[in-house]
Amino acid sequence: MTTTAATAASAPPSDTPSGLAWREGFAALGPAFHTELVPTPLPDPHWIAGSPDAAAVIGMAPGWLGSDAAVQVLSGNALLRGMRPLASVYSGHQFGVWAGQLGDGRAILLGETGNGHEVQLKGAGRTPYSRMGDGRAVLRSSVREFLCSEAMHALGIPTTRALALTGSPAPIAREEIETAAVVTRVAPSFVRFGHFEHFAARDQVAELRALADYVIDRYYPECRSAGEASGGNAYAALLRAVGERTAALLAQWQAVGFCHGVMNTDNMSILGLTIDYGPFQFLDAFVPGHICNHSDSQGRYAFNRQPQVAYWNLFCLGQALMPLIEDTELAQAALEPYRSLFPAEYMGRMRDKLGLAAAAEGDAQLVDDLLALLAAGAVDYTIFWHRLSQAVAAQDFSPVRDLFPDRAGWDAWAARYTERLAREDRPQAAARMQRTNPRFVLRNHLGELAIRAAKDGDFGPLHALQAVLARPFDEHPDHAEWAGFPPDWASSIEISCSS
Ligand code: AMP
Ligand code: MG
Repeated sequence: MTTTAATAASAPPSDTPSGLAWREGFAALGPAFHTELVPTPLPDPHWIAGSPDAAAVIGMAPGWLGSDAAVQVLSGNALLRGMRPLASVYSGHQFGVWAGQLGDGRAILLGETGNGHEVQLKGAGRTPYSRMGDGRAVLRSSVREFLCSEAMHALGIPTTRALALTGSPAPIAREEIETAAVVTRVAPSFVRFGHFEHFAARDQVAELRALADYVIDRYYPECRSAGEASGGNAYAALLRAVGERTAALLAQWQAVGFCHGVMNTDNMSILGLTIDYGPFQFLDAFVPGHICNHSDSQGRYAFNRQPQVAYWNLFCLGQALMPLIEDTELAQAALEPYRSLFPAEYMGRMRDKLGLAAAAEGDAQLVDDLLALLAAGAVDYTIFWHRLSQAVAAQDFSPVRDLFPDRAGWDAWAARYTERLAREDRPQAAARMQRTNPRFVLRNHLGELAIRAAKDGDFGPLHALQAVLARPFDEHPDHAEWAGFPPDWASSIEISCSS
């Protein structure tokens, strides 16, 4: 451990080795892409939670997570030898409008591990890109990001990971005074669509090309041998590949009922990961037009608009890549697959949820009609799918039927579904459904329970919730209430943008 300007005066860190090696990574791109700086220390940081699974992914020595040294490093108060911290610059479209330069205003990349994972602190102090912000994150939003990152991973949905959550008594002014927290995030790359838009908007074509080459060489090497569909153009192939990953991601969001809430282009991962957990929400009742972001008055990022917004965002990425693709038709052809891939991926996911192994004619209608019934009855989305999985296993639909105010509508649909299911191997169908339809998701009110306790210094509920969400398809009888209907107060939770 080095003693840098960022080393805190408090608690001398122990010398337990972290087991982590560091390599240059994003830093090598040079100063046009970032500003090197150290995190701003936080007073009296304390440990809140960690993810041993994420620690193993980056090759951390078992036992280091949670140590005094880790608390210091992962709160921005000390650096490990070999780290090269920086804040990156990007721009973006926010709520459909060009927002100009944004950048890592409160995120600081500590470095890249020897096995190719970037480690980033969120809430580590001001950077040249903080604009009016304080560079900090509050406990409330950090608990949500920590829990949801790991929960999404456990659901099999591509996401940035959360390695750790630390807190500090430092007062942070929001609508009221809150306390500071830092989430340590991990991902192969935190590059966003907005990184490309930044250089395109400034006609910095050399930098744009360097960034695209960096992303292709490291994450999309297959684009170098771009086939006929991309006209042998690696940058068109990149656009196509990002579109493919984004289609797969959006299909998973829509199938599980996840609403991101702020799908600005600066919150879109070039790797097709879920990134920047803010006002996100898992649907309670199935309300297709649900708006989870209290600041989104127009409903731009309503649940059912997400697939379309992703395409809009891909279009922005395509425009940013135009100086490299240099051919409008190639760029359009690279964007086109998203339109058919998203519905195909989505249908694949919905078939899994219904226990259907292979595609058959009429499946899309079956899904559409089901969604219409769920919407008409404002049926709880997660409970419906979990009960349906159990019903298929038990060959008894009555607990599902109870969820629908329109019993006749349900009976008619169930008859069609039973007929369709007869063409499947029933035990296999039930097994597929139980692997696909979680019993537990991070509903807003569950996050709120963990937050309220954490604010009082009790991290027990947070840890218990983390453990349940790490195995969301299991029964967890001790926490059956977390699989139940949301309480009345859940609908009064208001969550808006950055906090
Ligand atoms: P978000 O809505 O969280 O994606 O943030 C949009 C932009 O605002 C990004 O450039 C963030 O880095 C920046 N930002 C958000 N909150 C803060 C903050 N408290 N301090 C500095 N920058 C922030
Ligand atoms: Mg963001």
